[in-house]
Amino acid sequence: MTNFGLDIWSNKNFIIEDGQIKLNYKCMPSLLKITEDIRDRDIRGPILLRFPHLIKKQIRSLYWYFDKAIKENNYKGNFNAVFPLKVNQFPYAVEAVTTQGEEFNYGLEAGSKAELILAMSKTPNGSNITVNGFKDKEMIFLGFIAAQSGHNITITIEGLGELETIIEVATESKIKVPNIGIRIRLHSSGSGVWAKSGGMDAKFGLTSTEILEAVSLLREADLLNNLTMIHFHIGSQMSDIAPLKKALREAGNIYAELKKMGADSLNSINIGGGLAIEYDQHTHTKGHNYSIEEFSSSVVFLLADIMNTKKVSHPDIFTESGRFIVASHAVLIAPVLELFSQDYQEQHLRIKDKNPPLIEELLELNQLLNNKNCIEYLHDALDHMESLLTLFDLGYIDLKDRSNAEILVHSIIKKALYLKSATPTDELERLQEKLQERYLINASIFQSLPDYWGLGQNFPIMPLNHLDATPLRAASLWDITCDSDGEIVFNQDRPLYLHDVNLDEEDYFLGFFNVGAYQETLGMNHNLFTHPNEYTINISDSDYEIINEVESKNILEILSSIGYDENEISNKLKTDLANSIFITEQEKNDTLAKLELYLNQNGYLRTTL
Ligand SMILES: *Cc1c(COP(=O)(O)O)cnc(C)c1O
Repeated sequence: MTNFGLDIWSNKNFIIEDGQIKLNYKCMPSLLKITEDIRDRDIRGPILLRFPHLIKKQIRSLYWYFDKAIKENNYKGNFNAVFPLKVNQFPYAVEAVTTQGEEFNYGLEAGSKAELILAMSKTPNGSNITVNGFKDKEMIFLGFIAAQSGHNITITIEGLGELETIIEVATESKIKVPNIGIRIRLHSSGSGVWAKSGGMDAKFGLTSTEILEAVSLLREADLLNNLTMIHFHIGSQMSDIAPLKKALREAGNIYAELKKMGADSLNSINIGGGLAIEYDQHTHTKGHNYSIEEFSSSVVFLLADIMNTKKVSHPDIFTESGRFIVASHAVLIAPVLELFSQDYQEQHLRIKDKNPPLIEELLELNQLLNNKNCIEYLHDALDHMESLLTLFDLGYIDLKDRSNAEILVHSIIKKALYLKSATPTDELERLQEKLQERYLINASIFQSLPDYWGLGQNFPIMPLNHLDATPLRAASLWDITCDSDGEIVFNQDRPLYLHDVNLDEEDYFLGFFNVGAYQETLGMNHNLFTHPNEYTINISDSDYEIINEVESKNILEILSSIGYDENEISNKLKTDLANSIFITEQEKNDTLAKLELYLNQNGYLRTTL
């Protein structure tokens, strides 16, 4: 896996060149160079990089394939897309979506009051806003305010109660009534880990009886002309396209039936999100089985087919793809702080003038190991290790001898693995697993990869350099939280191999890819680690610029965000130190300055080069 599955997950967004991973765009900067530029500003913790051009690429590809399908199927409706804010509400992610999507009038979807306020302030004029999720009267009134203020807003009802509230607000006030959508409760359900949004027992949507009731209520209130949209969403990261096709048949037929019943203003079908992206680094565990091309052509073909059969005009198509649009745009970069078996380096050997005979033999095996003899020598070394451990337990050799034995056997195994890396035997593979290296990363999995912790979701992981050398260390990753769940374990089925590096001499950074969807918003401050420093990277033909720095919350800010009084804390610490005795005024002042500095830095570690 020397390319770390780049051909599987990266969608040609990155390439490996000169042993480094580079952006496959314009002047093609390497991630290492960008990282070093940022670290030159004295930044030491994890960093999150946003690449707006990757959002543009996804938006264009979505529109391009839908346009293609629309032409091929002689489809009469238009294609529209909105971005669901719950997938990433961070300012520079939302800004990237609205600016990169400007040529398509890209809109926003809101699922809560706060998201609706955000959508109302950030949706460019003329773009669409859709509103899903459970709503109270206030939230519905906000939707009226948005319509009155000139937004193209559609409020999708999740139940009849919400419709009754809309009618109530429309009766009570004279302000503009927004468009109304109906979310249908699908009979069919989705696929994949997130497929909880469809099916008879789904949390959302109206049954067919309720839909008929909704139409009567709208007609009575003289609001049937506000009914414009049928909506469904079958769950995120669809692994298979079959459930989507089923849902489309259901939604398409409901749409056509309602048109026939006189819902004349009905003009769109909103197919929600769910379009998957590839997270896997290994071919045999790929996460989905269809392309964007198959997705768009299935949607357009099926809707055309249903409407043609029922002689109903083609609806506009709306999507609310979130993951597909933003997952690839963000990369988390974490410095490796420590390799736990670095203690086993040969420089730590404490060879004596006179060593136990088995140690002498290990020294010889280690020196003479070659491609021909390495399996035999490896077996000898493992044998000797057993004997030496027994000798230690019985008191015949000392701690120095035991340490020498461990270092030498480690070195012999590593050399054998290296020599046989092209043709590893089962035994070598087992040894490799046992000899897993633990890479301590300066990041929090809970903050930056919460779906790994919560759902076992894998993300592509690879180092930023050394990519011209075969990585030989079976790796598991430890984060710096004090939680044993803060570990990405080595898995024989989806192994991760990393390089043996000497961190005293050079930095080693790991990139975590496709983290732009859901991770930032779900990230939690476990152990009070906060969102990492983030940067937007704009790439041109000749250069790149690092803009929009958002610094990680500092220690006082994070304490204050959970309700502590930051002044009280900082004063208490400073007074205690100031009142302490047995140091000079000078030392006291220097120490106070340090304390002040620490309180105003973030909590990530600062121990790398
Ligand atoms: C979450 C959600 C989406 C986004 O789904 P993705 O899988 O990220 O594309 C779209 N629409 C609705 C109603 C949602 O709840």
